[in-house]
Amino acid sequence: MEKTPTGTVYECVRCGANVPSEELELRGGEIKCIVCGYRILKKKKPPVVKRIQAR
Ligand SMILES: [Zn+2]
Repeated sequence: MEKTPTGTVYECVRCGANVPSEELELRGGEIKCIVCGYRILKKKKPPVVKRIQAR
C-alpha cells in the first residue's frame, strides 16, 4: 500500500540536512536528523509548487 506523501520537509538545525517527513516515517516516525541524528529539526516548506498539467 502506498502512502500519500505529505510533502513536509524538515531542516536539521545542526547540520542543515533536508529531511523529508517520509524518511522520518521510514525510521519509525521520530523527529530526528537522518544524517547526524540530531533531534531538533525546523519545519520547512517544500519549494516545489504542486501543479498538474492537463493533457
Ligand atoms: Zn543533522
